[in-house]
Amino acid sequence: MNSKDILISASGLYKSFGAVHAVNGIDLNIPAGEIYGLVGSDGAGKTTAMRLLVGALFATAGEASICGYNVASQAEQARANIGYLSQRFSLYEDLTVLENIRFFAEVRGLKPNEWYPRSMEILDFVGLAKFTDRRAGQLSGGMKQKLGLASALVSRPKVLLLDEPTTGVDPVTRQDFWQLLIQLVSVQSDGVSVIISTPYMDEAARCNRIGFMKKGQIIAEGTPGQLRTMLNERIVELRGEPLPLLKQIAAQDSGVEDVRSFGDRLHLRVGADQSEPVIQKLKRSVHAGGGTFIGARPIPPVLEDVFIYLSEQENA
Ligand code: ADP
Ligand code: MG
Repeated sequence: MNSKDILISASGLYKSFGAVHAVNGIDLNIPAGEIYGLVGSDGAGKTTAMRLLVGALFATAGEASICGYNVASQAEQARANIGYLSQRFSLYEDLTVLENIRFFAEVRGLKPNEWYPRSMEILDFVGLAKFTDRRAGQLSGGMKQKLGLASALVSRPKVLLLDEPTTGVDPVTRQDFWQLLIQLVSVQSDGVSVIISTPYMDEAARCNRIGFMKKGQIIAEGTPGQLRTMLNERIVELRGEPLPLLKQIAAQDSGVEDVRSFGDRLHLRVGADQSEPVIQKLKRSVHAGGGTFIGARPIPPVLEDVFIYLSEQENA
């Protein structure tokens, strides 16, 4: 297989629940070697999109394929290539680590002589080899996530779908989890594609590409760098005192779309071509209001700025 193979594809994928258009026509093309991040607020449709891709739900319209197999008409072949960690996955708490992974291995059809070496290899990979006899109920949250990942990986899937695998996990464990993911994709760059949904912007920034979902649609897609350019020259850092006054003045400025506090300074989102005019106006109005203007300058946008901007788009 060459690295340009598209392992996950979807066209016009659509799913409604009554009047709710949970997934409202999405197209995806994800090649081997890519980690694709799905981001968006609660209810945007991320989980439904993943459940359609794994074949856990039937699409109302449109289609999807995994490794070239249609998820509806060739469900068995498609599923054989998928590892899925659902948003609320559950382990068998009274079974040990090894018994849990054995269960998943057997469900995925690994033979009696295959499951043990493969399970040990994967437990070693995620750092749980020393805990094979511990009951899952006795694991820390981070270890449970890793066992979940190990279980999803035990059948050597080419496509990995991870639905908020790190939500609620501490930062150190999130870091470990990402190291594993990056290792996984780089070691087998010819064969693995990952879709991961996450509410964390630092994680979104680590994806090769991001799809931003809103109301069932992917309203923006691109590399983190491409998405950030949407707001080039539109984020202005403002420093001065007192902050509440600055905030009030900035919020009243017609060129300012959004104001947020970052420690001792403010970040303003301004309209296109508005950064210089806004800076000049603020200088005057802060002085006029009796405050101190220390400085203001355009700064490079971060992903969070872009997501806030996209979330606020009315008709998108
Ligand atoms: P996300 O994962 O981005 O939070 P979901 O895919 O879970 O979003 O949900 C998208 C929309 O579909 C929401 O409005 C949700 O309430 C609705 N929805 C999801 N699953 C069901 C279901 N099984 N029955 C009815 N509505 C659902
Ligand atoms: Mg979800």
